[in-house]
Amino acid sequence: MSPGQTMASLSPTELHDLDLAQLAGQLRQRTVSAREVAGHFLARAKAHDSLGVYLARDESVTLAQADAADRRLAAGTGGALEGVPLAHKDIFVTKDFPTTAGSRMLRGYRSPFDATVVSRLAQAGAVTLGKLNCDEFAMGSSNENSAIAPIGQAQPVPVRNPWNTDHIPGGSSGASAVAVAARLMPASTGTDTGGSIRQPASFCGVTGIKPTYGRASRYGMVAFASSLDQAGPMARSAQDCALLLSAMCGPDPDRDSTSLDIPAEDFSAQLGRPLQGLRIGVPREFFGEGVAPDVQAAIEAALVEYEKLGARRVDISLPRTELSIPVYYIIAPAEASSNLSRFDGVKFGHRAPEYKDLQDMYRKTRAQGFGDEVKRRIMIGAYVLSHGYYDAYYLQAQKIRRMLADDFQQAFKLCDVIAGPVAPTVAWKIGEKSDDPVANYLADIFTLPASLAGLPGMSLPAGFGAHGLPVGLQLIGNYLQEARLLNVAHQFQLATDFHTRKPQGSRA
Ligand code: GLN
Repeated sequence: MSPGQTMASLSPTELHDLDLAQLAGQLRQRTVSAREVAGHFLARAKAHDSLGVYLARDESVTLAQADAADRRLAAGTGGALEGVPLAHKDIFVTKDFPTTAGSRMLRGYRSPFDATVVSRLAQAGAVTLGKLNCDEFAMGSSNENSAIAPIGQAQPVPVRNPWNTDHIPGGSSGASAVAVAARLMPASTGTDTGGSIRQPASFCGVTGIKPTYGRASRYGMVAFASSLDQAGPMARSAQDCALLLSAMCGPDPDRDSTSLDIPAEDFSAQLGRPLQGLRIGVPREFFGEGVAPDVQAAIEAALVEYEKLGARRVDISLPRTELSIPVYYIIAPAEASSNLSRFDGVKFGHRAPEYKDLQDMYRKTRAQGFGDEVKRRIMIGAYVLSHGYYDAYYLQAQKIRRMLADDFQQAFKLCDVIAGPVAPTVAWKIGEKSDDPVANYLADIFTLPASLAGLPGMSLPAGFGAHGLPVGLQLIGNYLQEARLLNVAHQFQLATDFHTRKPQGSRA
């Protein structure tokens, strides 16, 4: 759309085809109002409820936020994201919408406060469209584990991948990725404990970044594994992610003791640098047996593209990659079993309607409130932390976690960023792995190492594989190197158009 065009000549298709930076620009120039934009995306949400994306919407809340944005836009006091609509993974607590974390345990729960990430985005002017489906308590890789029926459905259902609706979108931030891919919003929030931003971004052909652990406040994020949980944005491009991440990050010393005391950066201002001389480390453990040929081919082609852009490929080794699976699936459940002890039927959330005594109330409440995957993790977590097993499992896992982090530091002596696949395959079919938890865990192999080390990682669209499904390229940076990662992704997106492609089903 050219700058002088007015709303009258802006067809609805064009409105949701604009990316976040374009939409923010149109809002600032007031060629379209925040109310019109919000109204368009609310209507579009309704038309696509079959994807299972939304757990909550409230038109009056959204339109009131849009009106307030329009007033600030008129007064010229708008923030960087003024009037831009987005939605939050239902792991972030919000006072204006219910929060469930995809669990029966929290059905009907309304938080008295907003998560820091939510309030920071609101301060920048973002308008909230609602809350997005996810695997229960963010545990999963397929978004088949939500216990809440999304809007438009009578029962809990798996979220669908808009590129091929027989397939999963990835998880646990599956709906956040679907919402962006299907053009239901220009951006969304997600959380990543072991890959939950990067893997669904990869499976749905969108761009997502998990910052360094501690960059974004965890205050108001329903806790899964506190030493791993991080929030991040999902959008169509690295440029849009940079805008969002700048708004989301920053210290929160009074509310999250693990938030880093490092001021928020303007990531957008750091996107111009050419890649001449950049050393891209390619871990040999991220290739070969176990990686599907279609994924391998797309990643190889992306690396060739980087060489054309002036980068140099360096072979590196992350020798403990395989161990990241047992290590993560000990540490994450251990922390989850502790975090989830707060759901006891007393303080908030579900309480069994009938019980004999206190013990019975706890037992029944938790038996009714938690789904199978959550119960599985609580049992594993309680086991590895228990007297007699702690040394053999939990302590051992912590030691290997440290070694994994050291391996990355060795690797970063040889390279500036690390590149490889996000996942060994493209998105699998709905139901294909739902009876096999270990098969789901194994698919996390390439996202877990950066999570355990607390490093920033991102996924960007790099091609297509089997069944026309997207393939994501993973970039991992050293601590606090988000600006570099975003620039490396941005340069690729200036040279390729994978991130601009859209699924057939998204056509209104
Ligand atoms: N798939 C991983 C798990 O189930 C990661 C989830 C996440 O990052 N929230 O634990």
